[in-house]
Amino acid sequence: MVKGYCVKCKEKDIEMKDSEITQTVRGGFMAKGTCSRCGTRMSAMLSKENAEKALEEGSKKSF
Ligand SMILES: [Zn+2]
Repeated sequence: MVKGYCVKCKEKDIEMKDSEITQTVRGGFMAKGTCSRCGTRMSAMLSKENAEKALEEGSKKSF
């Protein structure tokens, strides 16, 4: 499960719904999705390790 910061809830480590993993131009990984609590769009930087884990857990691959 991908977790990220929600600007609306002002909390980090909130579960991200419908997460989609993308790769940045620098080769890093980002997750995009919606806050599981309020539905606001959110994104999070991921390490390669966490990106691979998220993909294994069913996140959409977008790169
Ligand atoms: Zn939220």
